[in-house]
Amino acid sequence: MRVLITGAAGFLGSHLCDRLLKEGHQVVGLDNFITGKRENLAHLATNEDFKFIRHDVSNYIFVPGELDAVLHFASPASPNPNSAVGYPNLPIQTMKAGALGTHNTLGVALAHNARYLLASTSEIYGDPLEHPQTESYWGNVDPIGERSVYDEAKRFAESLTMAYHRFHDVNTAIVRIFNTYGPRIHFDDGRVVPNFITQAIRGEPLTVYGDGEQTRSFCYVDDLIEGIYRLLMSEEHFPVNIGNPAETTMNEFAAVVNKLVGNQAGVKHQEWERKPGDPQRRQPDITRARELLGFEPKVSLEDGLRHTVEFLKTQIELA
Ligand code: NAD
Ligand code: UDP
Repeated sequence: MRVLITGAAGFLGSHLCDRLLKEGHQVVGLDNFITGKRENLAHLATNEDFKFIRHDVSNYIFVPGELDAVLHFASPASPNPNSAVGYPNLPIQTMKAGALGTHNTLGVALAHNARYLLASTSEIYGDPLEHPQTESYWGNVDPIGERSVYDEAKRFAESLTMAYHRFHDVNTAIVRIFNTYGPRIHFDDGRVVPNFITQAIRGEPLTVYGDGEQTRSFCYVDDLIEGIYRLLMSEEHFPVNIGNPAETTMNEFAAVVNKLVGNQAGVKHQEWERKPGDPQRRQPDITRARELLGFEPKVSLEDGLRHTVEFLKTQIELA
């Protein structure tokens, strides 16, 4: 296949490029570097099967040559208002990437008769009133809160994707991604995994927001990419959750990180940075992914964190 990946210079996009190239496909990566990094693609500079286009997905997209698949991953992704790459600081760009970017990439898929895969998110469930979250849950989203620029753009993107499927018969897929971590994660984007690990490496107390009893379910990047690849190769059109259902509170997660890194500084409870809107519980129900794709996450939290700690140590040295 010849595949277009938007957001290619980002954390997940760059891993997707690697995986598709490894499977023998040709990849056209597209990115405007608003939150991504050139370094994430540096190792592909001499790969003849990889081409790169610097472009903003909010503007009309032209890709010369044939395309068999389009994967739309371009979007800021961190909810942290204290990070320059957090979407609260890029609100209009975030809405444009989710809305105009989805429209433009769907147009590319239609023009090329290509399979289309949208990177959606667990955020479409908002602060969920159903637990764990199944794909049939409609969500509990504040339409005007700080997180809404991301959540509502993704909800619009899902709706537009289904419209292109139903009206134009585009062969679309939607993956709802739950919290993912691993090498190439932004070390300073303010999300909990890089925050805790960099604090632990520096011997500082980990900043637990609120009482720390809120939960997340962390998936290692290799497992996520496996699930996305399987979905791409399938014929499924309806949304599929991909993530790791192992749920942990932020207090438990902080203890795991401190133990793994050997940090004696403990934790520091502090005011929520972004309450209201910070989901209290999040855990994917992955029954559909299991049944449709034979998907099962394999990497334990400890193993995944070990790889991530190694990566973040080098980032801290470079910073
Ligand atoms: P990231 O910030 O590392 O990657 C996003 C990439 O998109 C960056 O390289 C950025 O420069 C690019 N981009 C943003 N706006 C663009 C635009 N207008 N034109 C061209 N490129 C643009 O984030 P990530 O964690 O790799 O997330 C990738 C995708 O996966 C996003 O769509 C995000 O919503 C989704 N997602 C990620 C997670 C997660 O845990 N990482 C969870 C749910 C959903
Ligand atoms: N969090 C925390 N300390 C931090 C960063 C985040 O306790 O230094 C919490 C945050 O309040 C949220 C959870 O960790 O409840 C996950 O936050 P993250 O930024 O990773 O993304 P989210 O899952 O909210 O999109």
